[in-house]
Amino acid sequence: MSEKKQFKTESKRLLDLMINSIYTHKEIFLRELVSNASDASDKLYYKALQENINGISREDMDIFLSIDKEKRTITIEDHGIGMDHDELEERLGTIANSGSNEFKNALEKGVDNVDIIGQFGVGFYSAFMVADKVEVFSKKYGEDKAYAWVSDTSDGYEIFESGLDHHGTKIVLHLKDNTEEENYDEYLSQYEIERLIKKYSDYIHYPIKMEMTVSKKKEDSDEYEDVTEVKVLNSQVPLWKRNKKDITEEEYNDFYKSKFNDFTDPQRVMHNRVEGNITYDSLLFIPSQVPMNYFSSEYEKGLQLYSRGVFIMDKAKDLVPEHFRFVRGLVDSQDLNLNISREMLQHDRSMKLIADRIEKRIQRELEDMLKKDREEYVKFWKNFGMQIKFGIYHSYGMLKDKLQDLLLFYSANKKDYITLNEYVEAMKEDQKDIYFASGETVEKIDMLPACEAVKDKGFDILYLTDNVDEFCLQMLRDYKEKTFKNVTQGDLNLESEEEKKELEQKTTDHKDLLDAIKEALGDKVVEVRLSSRLKSHPVCLTSSEGVSFEMEKVLNAMPE
Ligand code: ADP
Ligand code: MG
Repeated sequence: MSEKKQFKTESKRLLDLMINSIYTHKEIFLRELVSNASDASDKLYYKALQENINGISREDMDIFLSIDKEKRTITIEDHGIGMDHDELEERLGTIANSGSNEFKNALEKGVDNVDIIGQFGVGFYSAFMVADKVEVFSKKYGEDKAYAWVSDTSDGYEIFESGLDHHGTKIVLHLKDNTEEENYDEYLSQYEIERLIKKYSDYIHYPIKMEMTVSKKKEDSDEYEDVTEVKVLNSQVPLWKRNKKDITEEEYNDFYKSKFNDFTDPQRVMHNRVEGNITYDSLLFIPSQVPMNYFSSEYEKGLQLYSRGVFIMDKAKDLVPEHFRFVRGLVDSQDLNLNISREMLQHDRSMKLIADRIEKRIQRELEDMLKKDREEYVKFWKNFGMQIKFGIYHSYGMLKDKLQDLLLFYSANKKDYITLNEYVEAMKEDQKDIYFASGETVEKIDMLPACEAVKDKGFDILYLTDNVDEFCLQMLRDYKEKTFKNVTQGDLNLESEEEKKELEQKTTDHKDLLDAIKEALGDKVVEVRLSSRLKSHPVCLTSSEGVSFEMEKVLNAMPE
């Protein structure tokens, strides 16, 4: 029995966009469907390993493509885990993938430039960029019944029982009619399909096969004849297994964008092969912009984990430390036990060794960037510097030695970001402390009366504008034996002995006035006193040692 169902509102919007898309890179539909087929094969292979199911080998799990020129269809067939009735409904009826989620967010924010479509990993729905009818036949591994999911409009879809003689999924795309602008027939060319697989899906580690008609020379004759043969289109060598020097920047970028659903090239690529105690390949990326969901609970840190090219898990969170949670990428190691459960992996010694190396690798990359390419580093810092500062804070300073030299702060003198080391190097002979001031913006801090006296002495001040900054400095306690001093807090000890005496004298002279002000202000202040920290301003507020004004603000704003 067939049931007609409606798409969820957001899916309908995404579909409408796909159907009416004028996006020029429609060809990515093939990449998306092939990668789904590969994911489904991975899932089955992994299940077989976990549950010791015999008779499932990777060699049997090919992905088969076929073209029917008469019917104008393209078929993509896999022998993966398949979907049952409810899964067809849930997974194809709603926007599932994280890429499309970001896309959805973009839509909600009112971005309606359809040109960005293909840059998100929009997954299954991208089929509707080239097809006006999509049929999905699927049989879940271990079940008897197969079902079809069919849709030819953005209004809805039907699900009904249908035949499929193997577990896995078969997707049939009915190509749209050609228009003046768009010739969909190009996807009916076997060479075009071959080209697209080579371009986008070469590294997929299952053979992608297609029956191809090729012209062959007849034996004992000069004549040629058309023969059909099944050809494997992809090399199946994952990008990370290839030699670094043979990989172009564009290949890395394309790989990153399609795998991690980003639409901008990464800022940095780290590709390494490590041999020794433990052997692995790692391919890591620093994004060049903050992912849209980075500050939401939706964002999960972690690296993809492979063992001998077999996908094991998506977000192995123990592989990257919290302070580098922005790094995306993957690790492939032959030293990992494939049968190990996900929970066990956490305590696995090899995993710990890898995680340790990965952390050092990222650290080295950042140090290197800071040293050799300040402009790039500042860009990185604006994106993810917060994470490093949180790292110091959350570790109660345990990460001080590792991270302190990666920190940047805005310098009043330089009017630019500087490192703590640069601050200390530029310190005046008579300067003992590292001064800082906090506020909402650089401009606002610049106007703080309390900064004046320090600047007057020619001492630099670090301007702290992030909530975490002061907490971070507090955890550091000092840098190269210089303590951090808040210009609005406590005694700055900037005066000479003479000036101090003068101040004492003045205080005695004006005791009555000071007492009167204290009385008028009552409990609002602890003390009213004359200060030498002021130059052109009549008064300023300061706090005693301990929690500063800015920290108090942050603490008050925190949920209980
Ligand atoms: P993503 O792949 O990022 O999860 P997609 O939109 O590409 O998002 O696919 C949505 C979901 O549909 C997948 O997560 C998967 O559960 C299911 N799916 C799609 N294609 C297949 C397939 N060939 N075999 C099994 N499940 C599939
Ligand atoms: Mg997908």
